[in-house]
Amino acid sequence: MGVPAARIVFDESDRTAVAEAVAEILATGALTLGPWTERFEQAFAAEHGASHAVAVSSGTAALEVILRSVDVRDRDVIVPAVTFYATAGAVLHAGGRPVIADVDRATLALSPDTLEAALTPGTAAVVLVHIGGLITPDAEALRAVCNRRGIPLVEDAAHAHGSSLDGRAAGSFGLAGAFSFYPTKVTTSGEGGMILTESPELRDEARIYRDQGKGSFTTNHHVRPGYSWRMSELNAAVGAVHLRRLKEFIETRRAVARRYDAALAGLDGLEPVLEPAGCRSNYYKYVALLPPGVERAEFKRAVAEEHGVRLSGEVYDLPLHLQPVLAPYRRGPLPVAEDVCARQICLPVHSDMTEDEAEQVIEAVSAVHRRLAGQRP
Ligand SMILES: *Cc1c(COP(=O)(O)O)cnc(C)c1O
Repeated sequence: MGVPAARIVFDESDRTAVAEAVAEILATGALTLGPWTERFEQAFAAEHGASHAVAVSSGTAALEVILRSVDVRDRDVIVPAVTFYATAGAVLHAGGRPVIADVDRATLALSPDTLEAALTPGTAAVVLVHIGGLITPDAEALRAVCNRRGIPLVEDAAHAHGSSLDGRAAGSFGLAGAFSFYPTKVTTSGEGGMILTESPELRDEARIYRDQGKGSFTTNHHVRPGYSWRMSELNAAVGAVHLRRLKEFIETRRAVARRYDAALAGLDGLEPVLEPAGCRSNYYKYVALLPPGVERAEFKRAVAEEHGVRLSGEVYDLPLHLQPVLAPYRRGPLPVAEDVCARQICLPVHSDMTEDEAEQVIEAVSAVHRRLAGQRP
């Protein structure tokens, strides 16, 4: 029995709840922007202590809608080098220029220093990404840097459903937070995204943008260059049912992470990215850095072939400034990002992971580490 890289968990009662919701949606014919979207929005906002939520078709759309509302056209938007392509992609789609900043080694996020180093006179916004679900303890300091210059801080919280720092939920540290419900994320709607904000103006703009820029649902006056960014009622029902599991999923994921923390503490040179004080990560990913000189591909191959354990996808294996499509925005080396992207592995974490599975992962990683790290020159 091996351990897969990821597992998407809808138990039988959840599958039944979704099937019943789908039957109801099809019977009524209210297939988009209906009661399930509203229910999902309200539940997701409540889960994060947010005043407003706007559901959209993807996490990328959520980011783009926020950036369009801010209006970043022909201006710079600072993004960390360690993130998914979509963080920068949304900036491009919104008409802005990504400025790619280095990250802090301990948190894989922007720090006040890396942010200051990247700021330009034309900076229109800053995007903070909660890699793996971990919220940097610098979040407040980053916001202060932005506030001093009157620049909005936006959170890419695609990884961070239910994560918090000092009791404050992801999505509440800046002007707005963008969440993704892509299948691999901690909760999913199949495809989908959500914007959380305290700003009623941003909420209203987001509702206009997601529905072709229409001034209202019932008129045909288009007041913004919007797009087809709606979430279907079918997706909203899946998301609303899955969201009910968020707390227990996070409990399970955190218990796995505590086992990994304890086991990795005994492995010389293998450095887990530890949860900082005050941070309560949802452990979307459990990230660790391999000792310098240990080949990631060889390490992953050995745990898979010799122990049946599939490591999960990295976050990320190539920093943004080295992505071919972003070459025009490359300015120079970003040494910390390059190092943490080259050396990281992600141990599998599932929302229903058993103790046996976690132990199998620990045994596999320990055995392969002993062999490969022992062979280093
Ligand atoms: C998944 C993800 C996105 C994009 O979400 P989609 O729903 O796939 O559009 C954006 N940013 C990060 C960091 C992500 O992991």
